[in-house]
Amino acid sequence: MTSTQQMPQVKNCSVSSCSYNEDSDCHAGAITIAGDHAHCGTFVEISFRGGKDRGGLVGACHRAECRFNDKLECTAASVRIGAGTDVADCLTYEAR
Ligand code: SF4
Repeated sequence: MTSTQQMPQVKNCSVSSCSYNEDSDCHAGAITIAGDHAHCGTFVEISFRGGKDRGGLVGACHRAECRFNDKLECTAASVRIGAGTDVADCLTYEAR
């Protein structure tokens, strides 16, 4: 199991409409990259702000073909989230 100290940070997230976003910082406890592309599966639009006081971390990633992915865990130092194929995608994704 990956400890929170080892999880990559979400260094920047430009998806201001997400309820976990404040001043371009993600505040989710841990995000999951999932779906049919490198989509942030934790993205949500609700009428209030949520999350923690600290910055968000990458908890899990289903993009096994990404060069930073090792057994469905992200090994990048940090990731950036923003508009890509979808409104909230991992922009650090790189196919092997
Ligand atoms: S950099 Fe790659 S492995 Fe890390 S969260 Fe993004 S898509 Fe997943």
